Formats: sequence, C-alpha cells, structure tokens
Amino acid sequence: MDCSLPSRGEWHHNRPMQELDAFRHAVRHWLEAHYPPALRGAAMPIGDLYTGGRHPKPVHPAQPAWCAAMASRGWTVPEWPAKYGGGGLSREQSAVLREEMRRLGAPTPLFSFGISMLGPVLLKFGSEAQKRRFLPEIVRGDIRWCQGYSEPNSGSDLASLMTRAEDRGDHYLVNGQKIWTSHGDEADWMFCLVRTNTSVPKHEGISFVLFDMRTPGVTARPIKLISGASPFCEVFFENVRVEKAHRVGEEGQGWAIATYLLAHEREMISGLGSLISGTALAPRALKIFGTDSDGKLRNAGLRHSLARFELDSAAFRITLAQAARTRNAAGMGAMASAVKYFGTELNKRRNELHLDIEGANALQWDARGPAGEAWAADWLRSKGNSIEGGTSEIQLNIIAKRVLGL
Ligand SMILES: Cc1cc2nc3c(=O)[nH]c(=O)nc-3n(C[C@H](O)[C@H](O)[C@H](O)COP(=O)(O)OP(=O)(O)OC[C@H]3O[C@@H](n4cnc5c(N)ncnc54)[C@H](O)[C@@H]3O)c2cc1C
Repeated sequence: MDCSLPSRGEWHHNRPMQELDAFRHAVRHWLEAHYPPALRGAAMPIGDLYTGGRHPKPVHPAQPAWCAAMASRGWTVPEWPAKYGGGGLSREQSAVLREEMRRLGAPTPLFSFGISMLGPVLLKFGSEAQKRRFLPEIVRGDIRWCQGYSEPNSGSDLASLMTRAEDRGDHYLVNGQKIWTSHGDEADWMFCLVRTNTSVPKHEGISFVLFDMRTPGVTARPIKLISGASPFCEVFFENVRVEKAHRVGEEGQGWAIATYLLAHEREMISGLGSLISGTALAPRALKIFGTDSDGKLRNAGLRHSLARFELDSAAFRITLAQAARTRNAAGMGAMASAVKYFGTELNKRRNELHLDIEGANALQWDARGPAGEAWAADWLRSKGNSIEGGTSEIQLNIIAKRVLGL
C-alpha cells in the first residue's frame, strides 16, 4: 500500500471507505516516523501539555520538535483550512488522526487558547488580513494568547465591563483593568473585550480587540492561588495604543463575538477532564479496600459512588462523541453549556473520589499518585473548573433559556 501522504489540502472529502483506510495507513506510517521516541511512554497530564509562544517552556525537551512536525502538516489544528496553515482534513480524517495518535500514546502537540478560542472567532469574524496573519501563527504555536474578559466587577455579568477604548482615529487608547487572566504574565498577545461606546445599551457598546502584551502601558501581575501555583493575573491598561486594524469584526459587535468564543471555550473546558491522565479509580480502590466474600469492593458506599461515577463518565463520553459528530464548523452553540456543566462537575467528582479512596494521605502536599498526579493540587484546581468560562449556575441559566426554551 502507498504510505505517502499527499500535500495539505489535496485530500478530497466524502471519499469512500477505502480512501479513509489508505489515509489511516499513511497517517500511521507518518506518525511512526515523526513521533519523537523520547516522548513515548512519557506521562503528559494536562498541565504538562506544550503551549508554545515566544518564550516556550516545554516540560519535556522533545515537545517543540513534536509540535513543529505536526504543524508542518497543519495537524496541530487538523480541520482548519489548509490556506491558513491548518490540515484541511475532514471530520472523519481528523478522527482517524486522533485515533492513530491515541494508538501511539501521542499527546496533543499544542494546547492553546489560539486553537480552542481565538481561531474559531477569526475564521468567522476576522478580516482576510487577520486570518492570513494570525491563523498560521496559531497553527505553529508561535505566539501564546491570553483572554481579557473578566474585570473586578464583571464576571458572570460580563457585559457590564468598564475597560474603555477611546477612538483616536486609526487607533484606540485603552484604559482599565482585567482580572483572572490565565497566564497573562506568560502570554504574548491578548484578545480583549473593551467598551467603545458608553451611550448605548451595555451589550451594544463592546468591541473585540487584539494586542501585543509588550505594548507600553500593559502590566500583568500574577495572583497566587490556594493550589500554590500562580496561573493567572490582574492586568492593567494605561493609555495602551491598539490599532483599529486589530479590532475583530465591527465596532460594537464585540458581544456577539465574545459569546461565540465562550461557546468554544466551554466546549474545550468540558473535554479537559478526559485529557487528564491519572490513575484508574476502581483498581486503586480495590487495592486499598480489598474485596468482600462476593468479590465486590469491600466499602459499599464507595462502591456505589464509583459505579455512579463510571456510568456517568461513560454516558458523558458517548454524549461528547455524539456532539462532536453533529457539531458544525460554528461549534455546538448553546449545547456547549450542557457539556461544560456536566464535564466540569464530573471532573470535580473524580477528584473527590480520589480523596475518598486515598484518604488523608492524598492531602499531603507532596503526595503523588502512581501516575505522577499531584492529588492535593489537582483537587484544589478542579474547583475552578466550574467557575472558569462561566460558572455552573450561569451554564444552567443558559441551558434553561436556550436549550430547553424555558
Ligand atoms: C481557573 C480560572 C481561570 C480563569 N481564567 C480567566 C481568563 O483567562 N480570562 C478571563 O477573562 N477570566 C478568567 N476567569 C474568570 C472567570 O471567567 C470568572 O471567575 C467567572 O466568569 C465568574 O465571575 P466572578 O468570579 O466575577 O463571579 P461572580 O460573577 O461574582 O459570581 C459569584 C457567584 O454568583 C453566582 N451568580 C452570579 N450571577 C448569577 C446569576 N445570574 N444566576 C445565578 N447565579 C449567579 C455565580 O454562579 C457564582 O457562584 C477564570 C476563572 C478561573 C476560576
């Protein structure tokens, strides 16, 4: 069988099954040749995934090479159009690629807000110049993006945001403050919501802009968390010059763009739990508690919780797979709130169960699970899952209104 891969964009979609088999064969061959041997068998929890950027901090030295190899085919973002650096693959081909990566145990080569949040926005709302400039950079992981949405008095009520952007002809002058900006101190650029008009209803006066974090007047201050890490910042803007060419969409269109991006963010967050590599819960519980005379886990309460969790996880995986099959290029829309809500609550339960199984040992700060996971820090971090990207209560409001039509 011919194992060579055609150039990007040369695959034709909707071809018969044999074509997909040939594609699988070629992908397997290519991955075996390009997946760095040094990464094989390396545990890669979510926090260790490669995020790229101007000053990348790979957890494993082979990560940049793996990212570069995949980016050379556009496979860091397999379904984006080849003309913007993406893989140009169909949904079916992209699923084959993921399956073949899983077969090798290969981690996702690049994890970025550019891929999961900004890219879909640029594809829908960006100008041709913005697409040609920013999308290939995102595919390669050249710059790392952060999200400037929340403000000290605008979280759930995001539309009340106060950061002002004054019109100065060809540019805006931005003043104000953001908060909870994940990796604001490490990111290279920010996508940011600003108020461009104060004399219209709050949702209508918002615009969506992009700027380099090195622009004079931008200051990012890390906030230390209970988990010991400092993954997010307060970011201050003092007379920051933002070119109008870097406004995405029309002036005042920011709210529509912001909510479109949020649906993609929620979809991404909903899947994070399944990316986390950790110890399987049931075998660990059996090891610690042993079995009764029927061969069942000895602790009946834990047995019940584990069974419920495993069933809910299986149902969630099927729901996610179904949603992935039926979603269109614009994403899942309001359904993203349902998977975000369920996925993040499930991830919190998984962390609670870990603690139930391991007991007080797991609360020791340096305790590590058999797969190297940091139990206490992961448990604390999981609490943020149902807050970031919009809280669980806000997701329930959206589900009630926009999915159930209540
Ligand atoms: C780990 C993490 C990472 C984050 N990263 C970013 C980032 O990169 N960029 C960014 O901009 N932001 C980020 N955030 C901020 C996040 O988006 C906000 O924390 C979130 O939207 C909630 O806003 P708030 O904290 O102001 O809480 P509030 O809005 O003050 O909410 C407080 C409580 O009131 C409830 N509540 C509020 N309004 C309603 C309502 N209408 N109905 C029912 N209940 C309601 C909420 O559910 C919550 O329980 C991050 C947050 C976390 C935890």
